[in-house]
Amino acid sequence: MKRRSFRRRVLLWLTPWLCGGVLGAGAALGLRPPTTRIERQIERSDGVILPDPTYARGADYPWSRQAPPEFPIPPYAEHLRGVRIVLDPGHGGRGDVPGFKRGPTGLREAEVNLRVAKYLRDFLREAGASVTLTREDDRYLHKENSADLQARAEVANRANADLFLSIHHNAAGSPRANYSAVFYHGDADHSPASLSAARFFVAGLADALRLESQLPCPVLSDENMYETGFGVLRAANVPAVLTEASFYSNPDEETRLRDPIYNRREAYGLFVAIARWGYAGLPRVRIIEPAGRWKRGEPIAVALDDGLRGRGGWGKDRVRIVRDSFSVKVNGEWADFSVDEGMTRLTISPPETRENELRVRVDFENVFGQRVLHPEMTLKVSR
Ligand SMILES: [Zn+2]
Repeated sequence: MKRRSFRRRVLLWLTPWLCGGVLGAGAALGLRPPTTRIERQIERSDGVILPDPTYARGADYPWSRQAPPEFPIPPYAEHLRGVRIVLDPGHGGRGDVPGFKRGPTGLREAEVNLRVAKYLRDFLREAGASVTLTREDDRYLHKENSADLQARAEVANRANADLFLSIHHNAAGSPRANYSAVFYHGDADHSPASLSAARFFVAGLADALRLESQLPCPVLSDENMYETGFGVLRAANVPAVLTEASFYSNPDEETRLRDPIYNRREAYGLFVAIARWGYAGLPRVRIIEPAGRWKRGEPIAVALDDGLRGRGGWGKDRVRIVRDSFSVKVNGEWADFSVDEGMTRLTISPPETRENELRVRVDFENVFGQRVLHPEMTLKVSR
């Protein structure tokens, strides 16, 4: 090998610096290099100035680069203790139908849904939640599709679940499509508690999967898909949400979805979402008077629980319900009501009725924006 001359070695050594100078001049002229690292400094408590290694952006630090696969249980997950959750791994039992809900190389959506649901169940149980799956293996609940969807929702209804989550993955004609969508049923007033849960799932999936594309508004009504919405959400009478985390029809995403670690990331994103939802308080209401049948003209007293007061701690004696958020209906009609000063008890003056049953609906918002999980209550009318 020919020995490089001294001049050539000096030139080689100078090249990066010269290039840096050119890039610097380019930047000054507004021509930014494709890779940008913005250097920031942080001051240590003893006054020493150091470069901030946590602040970096640009092509070297893409959003899609995922965090190490570590899945710690956050301390606030303790608020899930005893919370009843039903998970529904979508589809199942139709592996014999050619091409049914399969990715470009044959990955079945049903299989991915089940893996994610089981990982999520494990996280939730570790936090003390009470979890039921609508299916634990590769099967459908009913061979007819609409009865199958109904049966899944019934599992949640029978359990009077605090949350029903149907886990799905999406498909599209374009192989490029890949984003998360979270669905609620009907219009935005149908179940405010479902909407509230949906918002947490949007954030949880975005953090966990780090997909490059997002919808302008990823919280969606299921009526965007079908005129009467999704059967599984329509049949649920508890807070219910359906997640379409990503697209198995996208070849790169299909590869990722085959990886159990990636499935676990998704489950963890859903878990953190549920843990934050629980942390935000789960408001509840309960009729305390009358104890039995309702006599015409009698007021109805409802106990209010903001989902937070029971925890005690700093600020426990302050009202944590948004006063203007109350919505009180009897048999679908707005009803007159009053609330005590501490907002622990609401009294309704029901309107005249000829019906044999009163459907009482009491909803409100706590300081976290959480709505009443089970706002509908019924009272038999005394003859
Ligand atoms: Zn599906």
